[in-house]
Amino acid sequence: MIAPLELVVGMELTPQACVLCANNPIDEATGQQQEAIFAPGVDVNWGDSVYICKSCGEIIADLLGRTTKKGFDRLKDENEELKGRIAELEADTALLERIRDGKDAVKEAKRKAKVK
Ligand SMILES: [Zn+2]
Repeated sequence: MIAPLELVVGMELTPQACVLCANNPIDEATGQQQEAIFAPGVDVNWGDSVYICKSCGEIIADLLGRTTKKGFDRLKDENEELKGRIAELEADTALLERIRDGKDAVKEAKRKAKVK
């Protein structure tokens, strides 16, 4: 069974350190403890709680294929460009439909003129 993981701030339980790197990093700007992943009910070394610090969590996420900020920004830019192209194509399509409607109207007018 997969352990239900929780996102927590700080590491309250022994050993108050990341199971992977043995650190308990704080935010250098604010001095606050960083978020960490906690595995409730899981222990190692006969009683040590299992925490994974934010830094190790970031590495794990990257290893599992998380899109990097740079990659996300590039995809976002491409998405915006494609949205713009779609809007242009929709406008062109609307114009073509108006042209077709106009031709149909001309044909209909000519047909009516012949009948009279
Ligand atoms: Zn760590």
